[in-house]
Amino acid sequence: MTEKVTGKFYKRIFLAGILILALFLTGCSGIAPSSGRAEDAAAKTESGTDLNVHFIDVGQGDSTLIEKDGRYMLIDAGERDQGPVVVSYLKEQGVKTLDYVIGTHPHSDHIGGLEAVIRAFDVGTIIMPEKAHTTKLYERLLDTIEEKNLKITLPKPGTTYDLGSASFQILAPNRDYGDELNNWSVGIRVDYGNNSFLLCGDAEKEAEEDMVANGLSLKADVLKVSHHGSSTSSSQAFIDRADPEYAVISCGKNNDYGHPHKETLELFQKKHIKVLRTDQLGTIVAVSDGTKVTFPGVGDRMEPKAAEGSEASGVSTEAPDSQSTRREYVVNTKTKKFHLPDCSSADSIKEMNRSSIIGTREELIGMGYEPCKICKP
Ligand SMILES: [Zn+2]
Ligand SMILES: [Zn+2]
Repeated sequence: MTEKVTGKFYKRIFLAGILILALFLTGCSGIAPSSGRAEDAAAKTESGTDLNVHFIDVGQGDSTLIEKDGRYMLIDAGERDQGPVVVSYLKEQGVKTLDYVIGTHPHSDHIGGLEAVIRAFDVGTIIMPEKAHTTKLYERLLDTIEEKNLKITLPKPGTTYDLGSASFQILAPNRDYGDELNNWSVGIRVDYGNNSFLLCGDAEKEAEEDMVANGLSLKADVLKVSHHGSSTSSSQAFIDRADPEYAVISCGKNNDYGHPHKETLELFQKKHIKVLRTDQLGTIVAVSDGTKVTFPGVGDRMEPKAAEGSEASGVSTEAPDSQSTRREYVVNTKTKKFHLPDCSSADSIKEMNRSSIIGTREELIGMGYEPCKICKP
Protein backbone atom coordinates (compact mmCIF):
# COMPACT_ATOMS: atom_id res chain seq x y z
CA MET A 1 0.00 0.00 0.00
CA THR A 2 1.32 3.40 -0.90
CA GLU A 3 -1.34 5.76 0.38
CA LYS A 4 -0.38 9.10 1.83
CA VAL A 5 -0.46 9.40 5.59
CA THR A 6 -3.58 11.47 6.09
CA GLY A 7 -6.63 11.22 8.30
CA LYS A 8 -7.51 8.20 6.26
CA PHE A 9 -4.42 6.46 7.54
CA TYR A 10 -5.94 6.25 10.98
CA LYS A 11 -9.10 4.91 9.49
CA ARG A 12 -7.00 2.18 7.88
CA ILE A 13 -5.39 1.27 11.17
CA PHE A 14 -8.83 1.09 12.71
CA LEU A 15 -10.12 -0.97 9.83
CA ALA A 16 -7.22 -3.39 10.04
CA GLY A 17 -7.95 -3.64 13.75
CA ILE A 18 -11.57 -4.62 13.34
CA LEU A 19 -10.72 -7.08 10.60
CA ILE A 20 -8.10 -8.77 12.76
CA LEU A 21 -10.44 -8.74 15.74
CA ALA A 22 -13.21 -10.23 13.61
CA LEU A 23 -10.87 -12.93 12.39
CA PHE A 24 -9.75 -13.63 15.93
CA LEU A 25 -13.27 -13.79 17.28
CA THR A 26 -14.75 -15.97 14.58
CA GLY A 27 -11.79 -18.28 14.13
CA CYS A 28 -12.11 -20.94 11.49
CA SER A 29 -15.51 -22.34 12.13
CA GLY A 30 -18.70 -21.09 10.61
CA ILE A 31 -21.04 -19.85 13.28
CA ALA A 32 -24.72 -19.78 12.49
CA PRO A 33 -26.20 -16.86 14.37
CA SER A 34 -29.16 -17.70 16.52
CA SER A 35 -30.91 -14.33 16.23
CA GLY A 36 -34.22 -14.09 14.46
CA ARG A 37 -37.33 -16.11 15.15
CA ALA A 38 -38.29 -18.73 12.63
CA GLU A 39 -41.99 -18.44 13.64
CA ASP A 40 -42.11 -14.80 12.59
CA ALA A 41 -40.44 -15.42 9.31
CA ALA A 42 -42.54 -18.49 8.55
CA ALA A 43 -45.61 -16.26 8.36
CA LYS A 44 -44.54 -15.07 4.93
CA THR A 45 -45.66 -16.22 1.50
CA GLU A 46 -43.76 -19.49 0.95
CA SER A 47 -44.46 -22.61 2.94
CA GLY A 48 -40.92 -22.77 4.21
CA THR A 49 -39.84 -26.03 2.68
CA ASP A 50 -38.28 -24.64 -0.51
CA LEU A 51 -35.05 -22.77 -0.98
CA ASN A 52 -35.83 -19.44 -2.64
CA VAL A 53 -33.21 -17.44 -4.47
CA HIS A 54 -34.24 -13.95 -5.53
CA PHE A 55 -32.05 -12.23 -8.11
CA ILE A 56 -33.32 -8.72 -7.40
CA ASP A 57 -33.44 -6.31 -10.32
CA VAL A 58 -31.16 -3.46 -9.25
CA GLY A 59 -30.29 -2.30 -12.76
CA GLN A 60 -26.54 -2.51 -13.41
CA GLY A 61 -25.35 -4.29 -10.27
CA ASP A 62 -25.97 -7.36 -8.14
CA SER A 63 -28.31 -8.14 -5.28
CA THR A 64 -29.38 -11.66 -4.34
CA LEU A 65 -31.65 -12.67 -1.48
CA ILE A 66 -31.53 -16.31 -0.42
CA GLU A 67 -34.12 -17.75 1.96
CA LYS A 68 -34.53 -21.14 3.57
CA ASP A 69 -36.83 -21.99 6.50
CA GLY A 70 -37.25 -18.33 7.38
CA ARG A 71 -33.50 -17.71 7.42
CA TYR A 72 -32.21 -15.03 5.10
CA MET A 73 -28.96 -14.13 3.43
CA LEU A 74 -28.40 -11.07 1.25
CA ILE A 75 -25.49 -10.93 -1.16
CA ASP A 76 -24.81 -7.35 -2.30
CA ALA A 77 -27.39 -4.57 -2.71
CA GLY A 78 -26.66 -2.77 -5.97
CA GLU A 79 -25.66 0.90 -6.22
CA ARG A 80 -26.39 3.31 -3.38
CA ASP A 81 -29.64 4.51 -4.99
CA GLN A 82 -30.86 0.90 -5.06
CA GLY A 83 -30.57 0.57 -1.26
CA PRO A 84 -34.20 1.62 -0.63
CA VAL A 85 -35.38 -0.63 -3.49
CA VAL A 86 -33.67 -3.62 -1.91
CA VAL A 87 -34.93 -2.70 1.57
CA SER A 88 -38.55 -2.57 0.41
CA TYR A 89 -38.19 -5.79 -1.57
CA LEU A 90 -36.86 -7.51 1.55
CA LYS A 91 -39.69 -6.08 3.68
CA GLU A 92 -42.24 -7.39 1.17
CA GLN A 93 -40.69 -10.82 1.61
CA GLY A 94 -41.17 -10.59 5.35
CA VAL A 95 -37.49 -10.20 6.20
CA LYS A 96 -36.85 -8.96 9.74
CA THR A 97 -33.42 -10.39 10.35
CA LEU A 98 -30.71 -11.06 7.81
CA ASP A 99 -28.75 -13.97 9.19
CA TYR A 100 -25.99 -13.21 6.72
CA VAL A 101 -24.98 -10.25 4.63
CA ILE A 102 -22.22 -10.70 2.09
CA GLY A 103 -20.57 -7.69 0.47
CA THR A 104 -18.73 -9.52 -2.30
CA HIS A 105 -16.22 -6.75 -3.07
CA PRO A 106 -15.97 -2.98 -2.56
CA HIS A 107 -17.36 -1.86 -5.96
CA SER A 108 -20.32 0.52 -5.71
CA ASP A 109 -22.65 -1.62 -7.86
CA HIS A 110 -22.40 -4.31 -5.16
CA ILE A 111 -21.95 -2.60 -1.80
CA GLY A 112 -23.61 0.74 -2.61
CA GLY A 113 -27.02 -0.23 -1.24
CA LEU A 114 -25.71 -2.16 1.77
CA GLU A 115 -25.63 0.81 4.13
CA ALA A 116 -29.41 1.24 3.82
CA VAL A 117 -29.95 -2.50 4.24
CA ILE A 118 -27.79 -2.76 7.35
CA ARG A 119 -29.60 0.22 8.88
CA ALA A 120 -33.02 -1.30 8.12
CA PHE A 121 -32.62 -4.85 9.44
CA ASP A 122 -31.09 -6.81 12.26
CA VAL A 123 -27.99 -8.44 10.88
CA GLY A 124 -26.19 -11.57 12.07
CA THR A 125 -22.95 -12.23 10.24
CA ILE A 126 -21.39 -9.83 7.73
CA ILE A 127 -18.90 -11.42 5.38
CA MET A 128 -16.62 -9.15 3.36
CA PRO A 129 -13.19 -9.70 1.82
CA GLU A 130 -10.07 -8.32 3.46
CA LYS A 131 -9.64 -5.63 0.85
CA ALA A 132 -9.99 -2.03 1.91
CA HIS A 133 -11.06 0.64 -0.51
CA THR A 134 -10.72 4.39 -0.26
CA THR A 135 -14.14 5.47 -1.53
CA LYS A 136 -16.50 7.47 0.67
CA LEU A 137 -19.13 4.86 0.01
CA TYR A 138 -16.98 2.07 1.39
CA GLU A 139 -15.99 4.09 4.43
CA ARG A 140 -19.63 4.95 5.13
CA LEU A 141 -20.44 1.25 5.00
CA LEU A 142 -17.69 0.52 7.54
CA ASP A 143 -18.98 3.32 9.76
CA THR A 144 -22.48 1.84 9.62
CA ILE A 145 -21.17 -1.62 10.49
CA GLU A 146 -19.32 -0.12 13.42
CA GLU A 147 -22.32 1.93 14.57
CA LYS A 148 -24.43 -1.21 14.68
CA ASN A 149 -21.74 -2.96 16.69
CA LEU A 150 -21.27 -5.57 14.00
CA LYS A 151 -18.03 -7.25 13.12
CA ILE A 152 -16.79 -8.27 9.71
CA THR A 153 -16.16 -11.98 9.21
CA LEU A 154 -13.48 -12.70 6.64
CA PRO A 155 -14.31 -15.30 3.99
CA LYS A 156 -12.27 -18.46 4.36
CA PRO A 157 -12.52 -20.90 1.45
CA GLY A 158 -13.83 -24.24 2.62
CA THR A 159 -15.84 -22.85 5.56
CA THR A 160 -19.47 -23.95 5.57
CA TYR A 161 -22.38 -22.13 7.18
CA ASP A 162 -25.97 -23.20 7.77
CA LEU A 163 -28.93 -21.33 6.32
CA GLY A 164 -31.91 -23.15 7.82
CA SER A 165 -31.70 -26.67 6.43
CA ALA A 166 -29.65 -25.43 3.49
CA SER A 167 -25.97 -24.52 3.71
CA PHE A 168 -23.37 -22.53 1.87
CA GLN A 169 -19.65 -22.91 1.43
CA ILE A 170 -17.09 -20.17 0.91
CA LEU A 171 -15.13 -20.74 -2.33
CA ALA A 172 -13.25 -17.46 -2.77
CA PRO A 173 -11.22 -15.28 -2.59
CA ASN A 174 -8.26 -17.63 -2.50
CA ARG A 175 -5.37 -15.14 -2.35
CA ASP A 176 -4.31 -11.50 -2.44
CA TYR A 177 -5.32 -9.90 -5.74
CA GLY A 178 -3.80 -6.50 -5.11
CA ASP A 179 -5.95 -3.79 -6.63
CA GLU A 180 -7.98 -6.15 -8.82
CA LEU A 181 -11.11 -5.58 -6.77
CA ASN A 182 -13.31 -7.92 -8.82
CA ASN A 183 -11.02 -10.84 -8.09
CA TRP A 184 -11.42 -10.27 -4.35
CA SER A 185 -15.09 -11.22 -4.71
CA VAL A 186 -16.48 -13.55 -2.09
CA GLY A 187 -17.64 -16.66 -3.95
CA ILE A 188 -20.09 -19.15 -2.46
CA ARG A 189 -21.94 -22.31 -3.41
CA VAL A 190 -25.36 -22.74 -1.78
CA ASP A 191 -26.52 -26.33 -1.36
CA TYR A 192 -29.97 -27.68 -0.64
CA GLY A 193 -30.64 -31.36 -1.19
CA ASN A 194 -29.37 -32.19 -4.65
CA ASN A 195 -29.48 -28.58 -5.86
CA SER A 196 -26.70 -26.03 -5.84
CA PHE A 197 -26.34 -22.37 -6.71
CA LEU A 198 -23.02 -20.72 -7.47
CA LEU A 199 -22.54 -17.00 -6.85
CA CYS A 200 -19.11 -15.38 -7.17
CA GLY A 201 -19.69 -11.62 -7.41
CA ASP A 202 -17.51 -10.13 -10.12
CA ALA A 203 -14.73 -12.77 -9.95
CA GLU A 204 -12.73 -12.68 -13.16
CA LYS A 205 -10.71 -15.37 -14.88
CA GLU A 206 -7.71 -15.26 -12.47
CA ALA A 207 -9.99 -15.78 -9.48
CA GLU A 208 -11.93 -18.48 -11.34
CA GLU A 209 -8.68 -20.28 -12.05
CA ASP A 210 -7.91 -20.30 -8.32
CA MET A 211 -11.40 -21.62 -7.55
CA VAL A 212 -10.93 -24.41 -10.08
CA ALA A 213 -7.55 -25.16 -8.48
CA ASN A 214 -8.65 -25.17 -4.83
CA GLY A 215 -10.59 -28.40 -5.30
CA LEU A 216 -13.92 -27.32 -3.76
CA SER A 217 -16.96 -28.35 -5.75
CA LEU A 218 -18.22 -25.74 -8.21
CA LYS A 219 -21.01 -27.91 -9.59
CA ALA A 220 -24.26 -25.98 -9.71
CA ASP A 221 -27.72 -26.09 -11.22
CA VAL A 222 -27.83 -22.32 -11.32
CA LEU A 223 -24.91 -19.99 -11.88
CA LYS A 224 -25.18 -16.31 -11.00
CA VAL A 225 -22.95 -15.24 -13.85
CA SER A 226 -19.89 -13.36 -12.60
CA HIS A 227 -19.38 -9.69 -13.44
CA HIS A 228 -22.74 -9.20 -15.16
CA GLY A 229 -21.81 -11.45 -18.09
CA SER A 230 -18.51 -9.73 -18.88
CA SER A 231 -16.13 -11.70 -21.09
CA THR A 232 -13.40 -11.11 -18.48
CA SER A 233 -15.24 -13.72 -16.38
CA SER A 234 -16.84 -17.10 -17.19
CA SER A 235 -13.73 -18.90 -18.43
CA GLN A 236 -14.34 -22.18 -20.18
CA ALA A 237 -12.68 -24.19 -17.38
CA PHE A 238 -14.83 -22.55 -14.72
CA ILE A 239 -18.06 -23.03 -16.66
CA ASP A 240 -17.10 -26.64 -17.41
CA ARG A 241 -16.62 -27.29 -13.71
CA ALA A 242 -19.83 -25.51 -12.70
CA ASP A 243 -21.72 -27.15 -15.56
CA PRO A 244 -24.94 -25.27 -14.75
CA GLU A 245 -28.33 -25.79 -16.34
CA TYR A 246 -29.24 -22.13 -15.86
CA ALA A 247 -27.19 -18.95 -15.96
CA VAL A 248 -28.68 -15.84 -14.37
CA ILE A 249 -27.19 -12.55 -15.49
CA SER A 250 -27.79 -9.47 -13.35
CA CYS A 251 -27.28 -6.36 -15.47
CA GLY A 252 -28.91 -3.07 -16.40
CA LYS A 253 -30.83 -2.45 -19.58
CA ASN A 254 -28.57 -0.86 -22.22
CA ASN A 255 -25.74 -0.60 -19.72
CA ASP A 256 -22.54 1.29 -20.59
CA TYR A 257 -20.39 -1.84 -20.47
CA GLY A 258 -22.20 -3.85 -23.12
CA HIS A 259 -22.93 -6.53 -20.48
CA PRO A 260 -23.56 -9.31 -21.06
CA HIS A 261 -20.81 -9.75 -23.63
CA LYS A 262 -21.40 -11.73 -26.78
CA GLU A 263 -18.56 -14.19 -26.05
CA THR A 264 -20.15 -15.14 -22.73
CA LEU A 265 -23.59 -15.65 -24.27
CA GLU A 266 -22.06 -17.73 -27.04
CA LEU A 267 -20.30 -19.96 -24.52
CA PHE A 268 -23.58 -20.54 -22.69
CA GLN A 269 -25.40 -21.24 -25.92
CA LYS A 270 -22.72 -23.69 -27.00
CA LYS A 271 -23.09 -25.54 -23.70
CA HIS A 272 -26.93 -25.40 -23.83
CA ILE A 273 -27.09 -23.38 -20.65
CA LYS A 274 -30.37 -21.49 -20.37
CA VAL A 275 -29.82 -17.79 -19.84
CA LEU A 276 -32.11 -15.62 -17.70
CA ARG A 277 -31.37 -11.88 -17.51
CA THR A 278 -32.62 -9.26 -15.07
CA ASP A 279 -32.42 -6.55 -17.75
CA GLN A 280 -35.03 -8.51 -19.70
CA LEU A 281 -37.04 -10.22 -16.98
CA GLY A 282 -36.76 -7.93 -13.96
CA THR A 283 -36.38 -9.74 -10.66
CA ILE A 284 -35.89 -13.48 -11.16
CA VAL A 285 -36.83 -15.98 -8.45
CA ALA A 286 -35.48 -19.52 -8.49
CA VAL A 287 -37.12 -22.14 -6.28
CA SER A 288 -35.50 -25.42 -5.27
CA ASP A 289 -37.35 -28.22 -3.51
CA GLY A 290 -34.07 -30.04 -3.09
CA THR A 291 -34.45 -32.12 -6.23
CA LYS A 292 -35.22 -29.63 -8.98
CA VAL A 293 -35.03 -25.91 -9.65
CA THR A 294 -37.90 -23.96 -11.16
CA PHE A 295 -38.43 -20.30 -12.04
CA PRO A 296 -42.10 -19.64 -11.31
CA GLY A 297 -43.63 -16.96 -13.51
CA VAL A 298 -40.47 -16.28 -15.46
CA GLY A 299 -41.87 -17.80 -18.65
CA ASP A 300 -44.61 -15.13 -18.56
CA ARG A 301 -41.99 -12.46 -18.87
CA MET A 302 -39.75 -14.15 -21.43
CA GLU A 303 -38.67 -11.64 -24.00
CA PRO A 304 -38.14 -12.60 -27.62
CA LYS A 305 -34.48 -13.36 -28.30
CA ALA A 306 -33.88 -13.60 -24.55
CA ALA A 307 -30.64 -15.47 -25.09
CA GLU A 308 -29.26 -13.36 -27.89
CA GLY A 309 -27.39 -10.37 -26.57
CA SER A 310 -28.65 -6.92 -25.76
CA GLU A 311 -30.16 -6.15 -29.16
CA ALA A 312 -33.48 -7.63 -28.09
CA SER A 313 -36.56 -5.71 -29.03
CA GLY A 314 -38.87 -3.90 -26.62
CA VAL A 315 -39.88 -5.60 -23.41
CA SER A 316 -43.17 -7.36 -23.53
CA THR A 317 -45.04 -6.38 -20.38
CA GLU A 318 -48.28 -8.11 -21.33
CA ALA A 319 -48.56 -11.68 -20.25
CA PRO A 320 -48.93 -14.00 -23.23
CA ASP A 321 -51.94 -16.29 -23.61
CA SER A 322 -52.17 -17.96 -20.24
CA GLN A 323 -53.95 -20.96 -21.79
CA SER A 324 -50.68 -22.03 -23.39
CA THR A 325 -48.42 -24.48 -21.66
CA ARG A 326 -45.02 -23.19 -20.74
CA ARG A 327 -42.36 -25.81 -21.23
CA GLU A 328 -38.92 -26.50 -22.46
CA TYR A 329 -38.43 -26.79 -26.23
CA VAL A 330 -35.35 -27.86 -28.11
CA VAL A 331 -34.53 -25.43 -30.89
CA ASN A 332 -32.35 -25.52 -33.94
CA THR A 333 -30.88 -22.03 -34.08
CA LYS A 334 -29.92 -22.52 -37.73
CA THR A 335 -33.11 -23.89 -39.28
CA LYS A 336 -35.26 -22.00 -36.72
CA LYS A 337 -37.35 -25.11 -35.98
CA PHE A 338 -38.48 -26.03 -32.50
CA HIS A 339 -39.14 -29.48 -31.11
CA LEU A 340 -40.38 -31.31 -28.04
CA PRO A 341 -37.32 -32.50 -26.10
CA ASP A 342 -38.06 -36.15 -26.92
CA CYS A 343 -38.59 -35.59 -30.66
CA SER A 344 -36.49 -37.99 -32.75
CA SER A 345 -35.40 -35.24 -35.11
CA ALA A 346 -34.30 -33.10 -32.16
CA ASP A 347 -31.60 -35.69 -31.52
CA SER A 348 -30.05 -35.14 -34.89
CA ILE A 349 -29.55 -31.38 -34.48
CA LYS A 350 -25.88 -30.51 -34.71
CA GLU A 351 -24.40 -29.64 -31.32
CA MET A 352 -23.49 -26.11 -32.41
CA ASN A 353 -27.03 -25.33 -33.59
CA ARG A 354 -28.85 -26.94 -30.70
CA SER A 355 -30.26 -24.93 -27.81
CA SER A 356 -33.28 -24.95 -25.57
CA ILE A 357 -35.82 -22.31 -24.68
CA ILE A 358 -38.46 -22.23 -21.98
CA GLY A 359 -41.68 -20.63 -23.14
CA THR A 360 -45.04 -21.20 -24.72
CA ARG A 361 -45.62 -22.39 -28.29
CA GLU A 362 -46.83 -18.88 -29.17
CA GLU A 363 -43.75 -17.29 -27.69
CA LEU A 364 -41.46 -19.47 -29.74
CA ILE A 365 -43.38 -18.69 -32.89
CA GLY A 366 -43.16 -15.04 -31.87
CA MET A 367 -39.37 -15.46 -31.70
CA GLY A 368 -39.38 -16.61 -35.31
CA TYR A 369 -39.27 -20.36 -34.67
CA GLU A 370 -41.38 -22.83 -36.62
CA PRO A 371 -42.91 -25.96 -35.07
CA CYS A 372 -41.39 -29.27 -36.14
CA LYS A 373 -43.69 -31.28 -38.41
CA ILE A 374 -42.80 -34.58 -36.74
CA CYS A 375 -43.40 -33.91 -33.05
CA LYS A 376 -45.92 -31.10 -33.71
CA PRO A 377 -45.08 -29.09 -30.57
ZN1 LIG B 1 -16.88 -5.17 -9.50
ZN1 LIG C 1 -20.25 -5.47 -10.58
